[in-house]
Amino acid sequence: CGLVTDDPILYRARVAGDGQALFEIATGRQLTYAQLDLRIARCAGLLSAMLGARRDGARVAMLARNSMDSIVLAFACQRAGAIYVPLNWRLNAAELRPILADCAPALLVHDEQFSATVASLADADAEMAVISTADGPTGLAARIEASLPMKPVSADADGACVLLYTSGTTGQPKGVIITRRNAFFAAVNFSFVGEIGPGSVALCDLPFFHTIGLIAVARTTLMLGGTLVVSDRFTPARTLAALADRQHAITHYFAVPQIALALRNDPAYSAAALSGLHALFVGGAPLTQALIESYLADGVALVNGYGMSEAGTVLHVPIDRRAVQDNPGSVGLPAPLLDIRIVDEEGREVDEGEIGELWLRGPAVTPGYWNKPLETAAAFTDGWYRTGDLGRREANGFYRIVDRLKDMYISGGENVYPAEVEAALASHPDIIDVAVVGIPDVRWGECGVAYVVLRPGAAATAETIAGHCVERLAAFKRPARILFVETIPRTASGKVQKHVLRRLHSDETLQPQA
Ligand code: ATP
Ligand code: MG
Repeated sequence: CGLVTDDPILYRARVAGDGQALFEIATGRQLTYAQLDLRIARCAGLLSAMLGARRDGARVAMLARNSMDSIVLAFACQRAGAIYVPLNWRLNAAELRPILADCAPALLVHDEQFSATVASLADADAEMAVISTADGPTGLAARIEASLPMKPVSADADGACVLLYTSGTTGQPKGVIITRRNAFFAAVNFSFVGEIGPGSVALCDLPFFHTIGLIAVARTTLMLGGTLVVSDRFTPARTLAALADRQHAITHYFAVPQIALALRNDPAYSAAALSGLHALFVGGAPLTQALIESYLADGVALVNGYGMSEAGTVLHVPIDRRAVQDNPGSVGLPAPLLDIRIVDEEGREVDEGEIGELWLRGPAVTPGYWNKPLETAAAFTDGWYRTGDLGRREANGFYRIVDRLKDMYISGGENVYPAEVEAALASHPDIIDVAVVGIPDVRWGECGVAYVVLRPGAAATAETIAGHCVERLAAFKRPARILFVETIPRTASGKVQKHVLRRLHSDETLQPQA
C-alpha cells in the first residue's frame, strides 16, 4: 500500500468516541477518544499554521516529561506530516546538542524545568521555534485550544512519523526512522504479545522517548482502544499506589529490570497491589532469575521481553505462568510479524541451540538511521536488520539473548559472554550490581574485569568472590580481576555503558598472573 490514512486515534474516535483514552496522574485530567481526536486535530492545525509548507517531513522535537500533551503532539505530528522527535530529558545540553544538530528540528517543545537547557540549545539555531508546555497564553495547551482543527489527509505509509534516538549504550545515540507502517505494525506486534484490547488499562511511567513507552505502551494501548494512564515520573511509592488504586483498575504495567527490582524491594511493596495485573512486562536489558522467581512466588507473572528502537517488540515470553516457570532466562517467542534468523559470521543460519547474531525482517523494522547512510548500510544485509545481539533458539522455539556481539570477548580461544559471568556474580548475596568487560591480556588474548558494587556493610572480598566464581564458572570465564566500585555507569534506561568501562583500560594490557 502506498497511500494510507493510518490514523489510529481518528479510527477509535469514530468507532468508540466515548471510550476513555487518557488519564493523567499528575493533574487528574482525562480525555475520551473523541476529545483526544479533536485535540490532536487542533494541535495538527497549530503545526500547520506554524510551519506552513515546511511542515511535511519537518522535525518537531519535544523535551518533556510524560504528559497527555506529549501524546497529543506525537499523533498531531503524524497527522500533519511532521516527524515527532522525543528527546531524552535526562541528557544535559552537551549531550543533546549533537542530537539536535542531527535532526535539526523546526520546532522544539519543552517543559519549563528544562528551559535553561533549551535556552543554551536555541542559541545555536536561530531557525528553531520554541514553545513551552507551561500554562499561559503562549504555552502549548493554550495554543492548541486556540487553533483550528486540521482535516486528516492521506499520507504515505513509508513516510517517517517518529525519529527515536537509541539509548546510546554502545556509543552515540542514533536516530531510528519510524515510518507510519513501522509504527502501525510495531503496535500490532505488541498488541499480540501484550494481549491488549479495548478493556486494557495500561500504566506508563517509562519515558516516551524510548520505544517501550512511546510505541509498545502508548501507541498500542491507544490503537487498540484501551486506556492509557500517563505518569510523569517513576517512584516506587507512586507506581505501587497507582497499581493498587481500584479506580484505575490497571491491567498492564511495563518496566525495565531496574524498575521491577526497585518496586519489589520497596517497603511499600505488596503482592496485593499487583494482583489486578494481567502481567508485569519487563524488557530492555538482561533480567536476573532471582527477580523473576521472587515475583512468581507472589503470583505475579513477570514476563521478559526483548526489543529495540529499530524494530519495537521482537520476542516475548507468553503471558502464562507455566511458560514463565518452564523457561527460566528465556525471552520467549517471536512477535507475529517478524522473521528472525540466527546467523554465524558469514551470515549462514546456525543450528538450533547454537549461538549466533539475531537478524530481523518485517514491516515493523526501520528502514534505517537518520542522516547516517554508513551506519545504515552497516546494519542491514539483504533486507535483514542485524541487531548486534547474540542469541540462540531452543528446541521448543523459545529464544535466549546471550549478550551483545560487541561485548563478547575471547579468552584463551574460548568465547566469553559477559552476561553469563555477570549472572554468576549477581547470585552472590553481597553483590548488588555488577558489570564485566573484556580487556587485552598478554597471556590469554583477552580477559575479564569485573566491576562489583557491594551491599553496604558486606564482608565479601575479592578472594571470597573469586571462590564463588570457581564454583560456578569454567576457568576461562572467571574474571581475572575484581574491582570494587560505588556505581556502574548506566544510560537513562538503566543499561550498562560498557564502552565507558572499557575506556578505563584503553592503555592497559593485563600482565600474566602469578
Ligand atoms: P545503542 O543502539 O545506542 O547502543 P541500545 O541498543 O541500548 O543503544 P535500545 O534500542 O534502547 O538502544 O535497546 C535495544 C537493545 O537492548 C537490544 O539490542 C538489546 O541489546 C538490549 N535488550 C533489550 N531487551 C533485552 C532483554 N530482554 N534482555 C537482554 N537485552 C535486551
Ligand atoms: Mg542498539
